[in-house]
Amino acid sequence: MVNYNGKPYHSLDYHLREVFHDKVYKIALDAGTTCPNRDGKIDTRGCIFCSLGGSGDFASSRKLSITSQIESGIRSISEKYNGHKFIAYFQAFTGTYGDKNYLRECYLEAIRHPDIVCLSIATRPDCIDEDILKILDECNHIKPVWIELGLQTINEDTARYIRRGYPLSVFDKAVRDLRSINIDVIVHTIIGLPGETFDDMKATICYLAKCDIQGIKLQLLHVLKRTDLLTDYENGLFQTLSLEEYTDIIIKLIELLPENIVIHRITGDGPKSILVSPTWSSNKKYVLNYIHKEFKLRGAYQGKYYRRRF
Ligand code: SF4
Repeated sequence: MVNYNGKPYHSLDYHLREVFHDKVYKIALDAGTTCPNRDGKIDTRGCIFCSLGGSGDFASSRKLSITSQIESGIRSISEKYNGHKFIAYFQAFTGTYGDKNYLRECYLEAIRHPDIVCLSIATRPDCIDEDILKILDECNHIKPVWIELGLQTINEDTARYIRRGYPLSVFDKAVRDLRSINIDVIVHTIIGLPGETFDDMKATICYLAKCDIQGIKLQLLHVLKRTDLLTDYENGLFQTLSLEEYTDIIIKLIELLPENIVIHRITGDGPKSILVSPTWSSNKKYVLNYIHKEFKLRGAYQGKYYRRRF
């Protein structure tokens, strides 16, 4: 049975200590990018669950320079951490979408900061082109670069419902292209999407278990204020998961993942001010303790039901 510093799965915390030999915190940054799913290139409405902050609700103000955002992030963490190792996380909207020269400057400004040990960029697979790959390759030769791809599900019907705006083949190509230049790929998934059964979620996880990815975020579906998802929720078109249901699902899914895939997140992180449902998820400490306790009671661990086929 695996044991990563007391956790039954390969957690991000454990991974960061292994790689950087210290506790490492993320600083959420906003380069002022937008998203093709909001600016009209694909759609104007955004993904059905996306908040007005473009899923970057914890980032600093986009009016500040990248260096100022990093300094401000370091100051706000300084009460609990006085180390010098941080990840520059371009979280808001689509971090590889926009003027390439401008993006290159932003990434280089972040990666050259002495306290930054790694650059992580959240984006869409359809926003990884040749120019971006060249820039990422350049950055990856300075410090490690991670790309976080918002996939959410492999189910094409659900993908249409959430207005993801690209087919699975685009994700597959982005993973291949990024891996060809040794960029670590982290995939965002959402657990509890409307209409999805456990078998649908399992299909997504089993698919990813065999992809050349290095990390995964398992994110509980949140219903946030001022989203179209809230309208469907209020109209009774779906329900959100209870803590007990979510725990049961998340444990079974983690058992299907190979141990080498780092688990960056096993719950949600929605800002309390705009969270409508499920409200239990706002007590993150309690939720994590509950899930970890249940792992123990069941004798569950990452990779328990994963079998390598090569
Ligand atoms: S791709 Fe990301 S930023 Fe764009 S609408 Fe979807 S969730 Fe929001």
